[in-house]
Amino acid sequence: MENKYQDFYELPKAWQGFLQACQSCKECELFQTRNQVVVFRGNLEANLMLIGEGPGAEEDRLGKPFVGRSGKLLDSLLTAQEFTENDYHICNIVKCRPPGNRAPTPDEANACKKLLAAQFSLVKPKIIVLIGATAYKYFTNTNSPISQVRGQWIKKGDYHIMPTFHPAYLLRNPKKRIDMWQDFVMVREKMEDLDLIREKSKPFQMDEWA
Ligand code: SF4
Repeated sequence: MENKYQDFYELPKAWQGFLQACQSCKECELFQTRNQVVVFRGNLEANLMLIGEGPGAEEDRLGKPFVGRSGKLLDSLLTAQEFTENDYHICNIVKCRPPGNRAPTPDEANACKKLLAAQFSLVKPKIIVLIGATAYKYFTNTNSPISQVRGQWIKKGDYHIMPTFHPAYLLRNPKKRIDMWQDFVMVREKMEDLDLIREKSKPFQMDEWA
């Protein structure tokens, strides 16, 4: 567990119940092939929620989201913009690994929606970043290409939602890194404007993104 909670039994009761519901979930067929249910990493009460597609092989092995090559690229971007793990909560549309790293099916995404909604109401984020086309599609129920919608705020109720590329796409198309960098600049600036995060200590410098 991150932050002030050292283990499961120190968590608020609502979180304990939620994590138990995740661990025992068999609402879709992905439970048959998972090694672990992958729920989140980061802060339980973050203002910023990052939502990806689903766990890959490394995530399934380690039980945490975004810990493979893509996750490391995302982490280095966040670090370069002075986000710490205390500033965000990161999770996925589905909590169990789709075999062969395929995208989750609509049935699987739909089955996992209840758990994501419960997670949402526990974390209470103000800013949501949808990482990649699949997260965008299932979270917004729309099918626009991610290249058309990334970098533009969507306002829904009290939430500000930013779609962006998936870091796996950037690993294949490094020239697109500038786009994802700029999307996160907007996220950071929005959070600072809304007093949701401390001010950055120095100007944005993309060459700090390793
Ligand atoms: S992906 Fe979600 S709905 Fe499907 S078994 Fe895993 S936790 Fe349950």
